[in-house]
Amino acid sequence: MSHASSAVLVINCGSSSLKYAVIPSESMPRSARIEGLAEALGTPAARIKGKTAQGEAFTLEVPGGDHAQALEAILQRMEGIPFSAIGHRVVHGGEHFTHAARIDAAVLAAIAQTTPLAPLHNPANLTGIQSTLRLFPDLPQVAVFDTAFHQTLPEHAWRYAVPADWYTEHRIRRYGFHGTSHRYVSQLATSLTLNENVSTGPFGWLVAHLGNGCSTCAVWDGKSLDTSMGLTPLEGLVMGTRSGDIDPGIPAHLQRTLGWSLADIDIQLNRHSGLLGLSGLSNDMRTLTEAAAQGHAGAVLAIEVFCYRLAKSLAALSCALPEIHGLIFTGGIGENAPLIREKTLRLLSHLGFHLDAQANLSLPRGSAGRIELASSTPRAIWVIPTDEEAQIAAETCALLEASPLH
Ligand code: AMP
Repeated sequence: MSHASSAVLVINCGSSSLKYAVIPSESMPRSARIEGLAEALGTPAARIKGKTAQGEAFTLEVPGGDHAQALEAILQRMEGIPFSAIGHRVVHGGEHFTHAARIDAAVLAAIAQTTPLAPLHNPANLTGIQSTLRLFPDLPQVAVFDTAFHQTLPEHAWRYAVPADWYTEHRIRRYGFHGTSHRYVSQLATSLTLNENVSTGPFGWLVAHLGNGCSTCAVWDGKSLDTSMGLTPLEGLVMGTRSGDIDPGIPAHLQRTLGWSLADIDIQLNRHSGLLGLSGLSNDMRTLTEAAAQGHAGAVLAIEVFCYRLAKSLAALSCALPEIHGLIFTGGIGENAPLIREKTLRLLSHLGFHLDAQANLSLPRGSAGRIELASSTPRAIWVIPTDEEAQIAAETCALLEASPLH
């Protein structure tokens, strides 16, 4: 069977969660897509929420269930839904993976070797792969890496200005993340623009992926030229609970003056900072926009810092592009928070971005659309819902079509 004509099961494992989706091929109806989530895995509260082949929502308690047990329970509910390949999200591919890779023993070993760079994520991704290899030994499986899209960065963008042996001996460099999303939305913006027949490209896009994790990316002619995240997903923008950029001298200062351990500081920067740390209220942008409207000072401050730092990052990344054709907002915040788009764009008019305030407010939820003031600017402002699962399925099919094996 051609992989392009059948569905792909997409698996995205976190340390205690497993997201899954069956993505129909382009020749199948979009309604054939099903998806769900197993959460709190390994705890008494482990449960699965999803839809059956008939489209009925279900919740299933699997107390103490691990990734493999959750997957077996999900597959039982999915009987009658055929798929011919499995695509896995893998967070860190280091320098080894510049593209998606068909999973075999060598690829598994290379992913395991990259674990020191992503100690929380890669082991969970490997657990998911090992479970599906056991359950489907005969199906082709593909790993799609968050970092791979950014392997086109020029060296001046990925090197840190630290002693050279930090990189040559320890691979300390900028890798970038959210690559699957940045690739998906920038490809879609390009094809939507080509459909309009006004320009043939190449196109330069600034992308803001704003979810619980947030990153920006400069994409030229389909290639990532710079991005805001670095060795880890802590660098760059203000995020839900992550600080983004801080003075690199702060951890040593805290350790020296207060005796805090590096492990403790790391936890504070990753889990107690960002929107949560600034607002003292929540890491959730919806909660913060509602609280800010009621005058909550912490929420107001968190939103101001978030938007200022985002605009600053986009302006910085504009240096990477020979020409800017547009800006793309995506992710839960980018797609659904007009206030954040408006505040950020107010800081970027010198780059030629002018917002149509009405279009910004009235864009239908979940749909792609342009929100720039058409009369005053040649620069597009897109809102494009990301679809990392569809991108993983597409890359899985493309790889298997190109190298059918065995
Ligand atoms: P994601 O990680 O892409 O699912 O995005 C999660 C983030 O999107 C959270 O901070 C949510 O609060 C935010 N979000 C989702 N819907 C809205 C909304 N209508 N207004 C503001 N933020 C939203």
